[in-house]
Amino acid sequence: MPQLAISPASGRPGDLVRLVGIARMAAESSVLVEKRRVEYRNLATRKWLNRCQSERVPFDWTINPYRGCEFACKYCYARYTHDFLERHDPAAFETEIYAKDWNAVDFQEELKSVKAGQIIAIGTATDPYQPAERRFLSTQNVLEGLASVRGVSICLTTKSSLVSRDAALFLALAKHNHVHVTITVTTTNRSLARLTEPFAPSPEMRLKAVAKLAASGVSVGVMASPILPLITDSEQNLLAVAQAAKNAGAKQFGAYVLFLQPAAQRVFFPFLAERFPEHLARYQRSFRDGAYLSGVYPEKMRKMVQDIRQQVGLLSRDVEVPPPPSDPPAAQMLLF
Ligand code: SF4
Repeated sequence: MPQLAISPASGRPGDLVRLVGIARMAAESSVLVEKRRVEYRNLATRKWLNRCQSERVPFDWTINPYRGCEFACKYCYARYTHDFLERHDPAAFETEIYAKDWNAVDFQEELKSVKAGQIIAIGTATDPYQPAERRFLSTQNVLEGLASVRGVSICLTTKSSLVSRDAALFLALAKHNHVHVTITVTTTNRSLARLTEPFAPSPEMRLKAVAKLAASGVSVGVMASPILPLITDSEQNLLAVAQAAKNAGAKQFGAYVLFLQPAAQRVFFPFLAERFPEHLARYQRSFRDGAYLSGVYPEKMRKMVQDIRQQVGLLSRDVEVPPPPSDPPAAQMLLF
């Protein structure tokens, strides 16, 4: 019996499309746990390691243990990944979380394709330490599975304080590989973070995780990405994040400017209309023709971040590039 869903093109209940591939697997998955706001589902998975071919990023492989992310950041670029599951309702990305089925034997088979010198990035699309990790331990399984690799770079990015749980695993991996953890802190302003990243741990909790990892000897840095034009792009804000990162024991600091693909715009623009209506028209003009800004503004922000690094005494990240877009960016005029 073929799986059918309402056509995303028409949105009319009568127009059904046949589900294939991962969308079909998602439709066939069973609900494992239902919390008040979020539903957890399992997702049959053929591959854990995804070959990264994008020229925008230096990663050779990416691993994302979860689909969807209940941290629900208003600017999240990964919302488009739920489109592959034929889940087009913007809320589904934050409320239907899919945990990929773990298979340790298959994962070891996949790792045979990884060569020394290559980079494996964990958490390039969704947060590997979102609340689902407490239940499914998928990221912990990955880190334990990676114990067999030698001479590779392993980078992990998260907003979750849960990451400090795995300090011992990072240290064990670092005996044979280059391991680096990045914790994202876009602002030290708790109220602002609550608006833009409503269900993520507070900036204080994330900085405590930085401190715990650093104290354990794990190489840890802080990224203030994405820089939200007119909202978190002041020198005062970025300096405060860098200073707090330094105080917590981070070695690196970086930040790149927001990019907004259509799936992200569908959530971010209504958010602006509600919370920052004075900025809405400017954002709409700036992102009208594409997801990326170019020109004077991103260059100005790049220079500001560089100056702050020098001022505070932090290094640049080894891998300081935005995550891969699904499509090449369109050139933008400076409007900010
Ligand atoms: S933590 Fe990352 S993946 Fe999760 S909603 Fe926020 S930006 Fe998206």
